[in-house]
Amino acid sequence: MRIVVIGGDAAGMSAASQVRRNVGAAARIIVLERQSWTSYSACGIPYWIGGQVEGGPDRLVTRSPEQHRANGLDVRTRTEAVSIDLAAGVVRAEAVGAGGSAGTFEYDHLVVATGAVPLVPAITGLDLPGVHRAQTLDNGLAAIASLALGPRRAVVLGGGYIGLEMAEAAMDRGLDTTIVDLSPEPMHTLDVDMGARIRAALTSAGVDFHGDEPAREIVAGPDGRVAAVRTDRGLYPADIVFMGLGVRPRNELAIAAGLPVGDFGGILTDDHQRVVGCDTVWAGGDCTEVMDRCVGRRRHVPLGTHANHQGRVIGLNIAGGDVAFPGVVGTAITKFQATEIARTGARVAEAADFGLDVVCTTIEAKTRTGYMPGVAPLAVKMIAERGSGRVVGCQIVGGPGAGKRIDTAATAITNRMTAEQIIDLDLAYAPPVSGVWDPIQIAARQLSNLL
Ligand SMILES: Cc1cc2nc3c(=O)[nH]c(=O)nc-3n(C[C@H](O)[C@H](O)[C@H](O)COP(=O)(O)OP(=O)(O)OC[C@H]3O[C@@H](n4cnc5c(N)ncnc54)[C@H](O)[C@@H]3O)c2cc1C
Repeated sequence: MRIVVIGGDAAGMSAASQVRRNVGAAARIIVLERQSWTSYSACGIPYWIGGQVEGGPDRLVTRSPEQHRANGLDVRTRTEAVSIDLAAGVVRAEAVGAGGSAGTFEYDHLVVATGAVPLVPAITGLDLPGVHRAQTLDNGLAAIASLALGPRRAVVLGGGYIGLEMAEAAMDRGLDTTIVDLSPEPMHTLDVDMGARIRAALTSAGVDFHGDEPAREIVAGPDGRVAAVRTDRGLYPADIVFMGLGVRPRNELAIAAGLPVGDFGGILTDDHQRVVGCDTVWAGGDCTEVMDRCVGRRRHVPLGTHANHQGRVIGLNIAGGDVAFPGVVGTAITKFQATEIARTGARVAEAADFGLDVVCTTIEAKTRTGYMPGVAPLAVKMIAERGSGRVVGCQIVGGPGAGKRIDTAATAITNRMTAEQIIDLDLAYAPPVSGVWDPIQIAARQLSNLL
């Protein structure tokens, strides 16, 4: 069996490794990866740039190309797949650096795991020295080189989770930090009332947050490096700029080959991650759309959690299994300094779009029993469908220990539990980690009174 995998990170390498584990030497697995690394953690890049993770890019590599090769995978780095011929079952690749492989690769099964591309606004100056992304390890190396020049002021474009993580990195590096964002409040994947709490945490840490104020231009200084970011309302001096504006599926190769993509540009697959209409082509991770099982629609939810899970499903199915990827409920977590931020399910702001009539409540609670040192406030917003009482969304903003409580809500949403049923859950308690009533249950109790 000949397998070609395009993309050597989370989804691609999970798929390749599963096939290797289950089929052994009977599978010839070639992985085409245009960068120099495989199985790296993009998620760790902000903490590396900020200095919390010390050392070189290898610190973020879970498994190097050499380690994969030792496991029997034929990994071709600095090798870019440039076309797919579905009828002939062939991928053509070009070398994009020393040691890359140009050539054609025949497959019995093809795995497309090309990830996502950062969104780039149509403004001038984004290519100036000192303007950085946080998508790849090469991006991280470039940002760290810029930091070595001794910048004093950073502007972050975008207040989503990568923007917040880059703002924390900039603060960790001792920079005066400004965020400019298109949305009124940070983290537009939460409702604005919860976003306002995040803005309060940013402001009290000294970050200058400007909502409803997208960047219009990156201005160069006399030395040709970035000097400022212009919006409709201001000019913010910047010695370094970090971009965190979101991503879209990297779909060009797939579209050129004739693979189907959905409304968000992600490759369309069935629940086994097989590309719709293509028996021998599989796709997973950020280049695909995924079924949101809470609202019953496809979305683009680019997260490492799904990419790894979908890659495993692809590998098992290529190996002859019959495994479905059940979909997602949109669970995500991040933090800014001591403030943890988490969300799952639908927001109130989008409920009507999904045909949901909802009731919501927001409660204030504590991360641990009030008399314990280190106790911190947290807020839980819980959303349920009117009538059925089914919980459809939850958002948390609070101190250390707050965020991972979202997993209880995600589990409840996955299993279509009502607020009443959450009240009856047997959740853990000890004074250093929780109150007697978990904040999720306090929110469920208050919500059930409104239903
Ligand atoms: C700064 C940052 C922080 C993040 N933090 C989190 C987090 O905390 N939690 C979380 O769940 N997710 C997080 N993510 C998202 C997570 O990293 C991605 O969802 C995950 O990496 C997607 O895996 P993937 O395999 O689909 O795509 P990718 O990891 O993007 O891998 C795709 C690979 O394909 C290669 N490729 C693309 N086209 C070609 C081609 N034509 N030929 C050869 N190779 C090609 C690319 O070079 C790349 O290595 C973060 C992302 C970023 C950027």
